[in-house]
Parts: sequence; C-alpha cells; structure tokens
Amino acid sequence: MSASPVITVPRPVLAIQQRLEAAGFETWCVGGAVRDALLEIPQSDVDLATAATPVQVRDLFARTVPVGIAHGTVGVLDPEGVLHEVTTFRRDVTTDGRHAVVEFGVSLDDDLARRDFTINAIAWHPGRREFRDPFNGRADLEAGIVRAVGDPDARFAEDRLRILRAFRFAARFEFEIESATWEAAVRQAPDTMYLSAERVREEWWKGISRACDGLLLARLWEESGVAKVWLPADHTTICHHLDREPLAALASWRQPVEPILRRLKCSAVEIARGRAIDRGPAGPSDVTLLAARRWLAGVEPFANDLLRIHEMRTGVPAPWMAPVVATRLYGHPLHRSDLAVTGSDLIALGLPPGPAIGTMLDALLAHVIDDPDANDRHLLLDRAREALPE
Ligand code: ATP
Ligand code: MG
Repeated sequence: MSASPVITVPRPVLAIQQRLEAAGFETWCVGGAVRDALLEIPQSDVDLATAATPVQVRDLFARTVPVGIAHGTVGVLDPEGVLHEVTTFRRDVTTDGRHAVVEFGVSLDDDLARRDFTINAIAWHPGRREFRDPFNGRADLEAGIVRAVGDPDARFAEDRLRILRAFRFAARFEFEIESATWEAAVRQAPDTMYLSAERVREEWWKGISRACDGLLLARLWEESGVAKVWLPADHTTICHHLDREPLAALASWRQPVEPILRRLKCSAVEIARGRAIDRGPAGPSDVTLLAARRWLAGVEPFANDLLRIHEMRTGVPAPWMAPVVATRLYGHPLHRSDLAVTGSDLIALGLPPGPAIGTMLDALLAHVIDDPDANDRHLLLDRAREALPE
C-alpha cells in the first residue's frame, strides 16, 4: 500500500457519482473495490453508497434497474449498457441472523457501521480525494487483519454468514483473523446451521475459487467447527494443497463427498460427479498402459477429477499420469462408442436384438481395451461370429 493512496475510479462510475453529487446527494465509493484498490489488486466493480433514496436515484438517471430496492440498491446503466450498483446509506434495524430489515435516511458513518469487517468499511470520495475510515480499516489492511466492525459476537449473531465471509477474506488475502473476531466465530459456529444451504454453498464456492491459500480456508472451516456443521465427513485427508476447483477441493479433503453435496443442495450433476469421485477407483492398479486403459474405461469422464485429487493429497502429479496422457493421445478405444463395430453389425450377423447385443459389445470392448490393435471391424466381426450360439 502506498503512503497516500489515491483510488482510480472507472469513468462511468465517476460520472454517476458526480451526477448524484451535483444533485445534492453525498455519494461515496465503498466496499470490496476500495479494499482491493488499497491492496493494489485488480478491482471488482465499484459500489457507490449515496444519501439519495432509491426513488431519487431512479429519477436522476435515464436507465435504471431495481436490482434490490428493498435493500436500497438501484442498478444504473451507463451509456455502454453496463450496470453499476448504487445503494442508499442504510442501517439494519432488525435481523433474525439471516435477513435484515433496513432503514434509509442515515449517514455514511451509519452505513459503514453496519458493514461486516473493518477492511470492508472504508469509503472513498473521488471528488474530495478523501477517505472515510471510522474503524481504521486501512490500518488492518496494512497489518493483514480481518476484524469485525464493533462487537464481533453481536455482528455474527446478526448474520452468521459473516463468519464464513471472515474465513473467505482471510484465505483470499492470507490475513489473520483478529482474536476476538475468531473467538466469536468459534462460539457461534454451531449457529451457522440456521443459514440456508444456498448461502453456505456459495461461500465455499467463492471462498475456495478465490483463495490465495485453499488449505487456510479449509483449516478455518475445520478449526472453527463450521465444517462439522456443514461438511459432514467419515474421513478427512490432510492435503498438500487445495486447488481452486470447489468440488474437487472438497472431495480431496473430506470423504465421502456426495453427502456433503447433498447437504449443500448442489445440483444433480454435481451430486453425480461427487458420487463418481467417491466410487473411484482413485487410480489404475499399476503404472502401465494396460492398467491406465482399464482405469480410464471405468472412471471417465471423471478421470481428471481423480488425477487432480491425487495431486492435491500428495503434492505431486499421480505416477500414472504419463500412461493416462499417452492413452488419450493414442486415442485408444475405451467406450462402446469407440468400437469398430456397432449393435446393428451384430444384428446383421444374426444376434437377436435385445440385451445380448449389449453383452456382446461389452465383451468386445473388454477385448479391445486389453488389445487396442484388435479394434478392427473384420477382426471383431470374426470374433463375434465365433461366439455366436450354434
Ligand atoms: P467480493 O470481492 O467478494 O465481492 P466484497 O467485499 O465486495 O467482496 P460483497 O459481498 O460484494 O463483498 O459486498 C460488498 C460490501 O457490502 C462488503 O465489502 C461489505 O462492506 C458489505 N457486506 C456484504 N455482505 C455483508 C454482510 N453479510 N454483512 C455486512 N456487510 C456486508
Ligand atoms: Mg463485491
């Protein structure tokens, strides 16, 4: 972080900010973009916080979208049609730990006070080139600390998702969680059970896919007790590293993964993928082309998941990587559809339509998996003919 940083605000956002100010509404850049700019990492979209009410924002701009009116957020479309979020200064009045009811007509400082962490509660005024940082977020950014705004127990009780957000920011920036914030997170970890599966899933997905250190994220979920609530496991593996691919990262760490994906209400496709990963086998029986073919025939299209999981667990590429890559390069037959004969060919030979066809194709496939050179139409038809009942 430089000594007197200045935040560069993209032109379209600046135009919106200036328009609001010209109409008499104090308007500041807030949230993740200010934090990321101070960290000198590529910025996400800049959010604006304003004294204007949602109605006033809508009146000021030609093209707006009511993205979250109840929370005071209006989307303003710039001339290119890109949406920028403008949110009215607000304060949370009631909350049940999941949903907030907000009040408008409050100050910037009130708005900053309802934000989760000090590093996320810094505002920047592009016109005045001035920061508003009532909780010393810049000092925490400098020191690498995730600290709740105000009393951590109260803030986590208001919204338990903040516990998971703390872990996400810590892993993303390799920051420490300040001790009172961490202790409150541990105390309230069991209460994360009241969160919706969708919000928790999104936090794991976002958290791991953006983590600088995936293992740190896993450790925070585990040591806080949140993993016990949300990621039930029979076994855990101490991994060497965790990739940013959420499902494979989860599967390499906690087994079986399918029940976790069900708990997180993942899609049917993801659950099926998890089941295939659980089933394995994790790799071929030995490091030969023959074993690689047999393994690939059984586990595709999930072989890449299994290869990646092996590497996350051990820290080195699977020893069978080379024969697997070679098998793919050679394009050796692994599936029924790769066979040089089809079911119709077998019917033409006189095999009765029905299950016998599938059985014969599988027998031929097993044969060509063992001997790829045997995947020749004439050879296979001869072989099928020999096997035909007299
Ligand atoms: P990211 O880069 O992941 O988008 P972000 O800090 O921008 O990080 P958002 O979820 O986009 O996170 O939220 C924008 C801002 O809104 C945050 O910086 C924070 O000030 C505030 N905020 C978001 N979620 C919460 C929450 N659950 N409780 C309190 N404040 C929150
Ligand atoms: Mg954001």
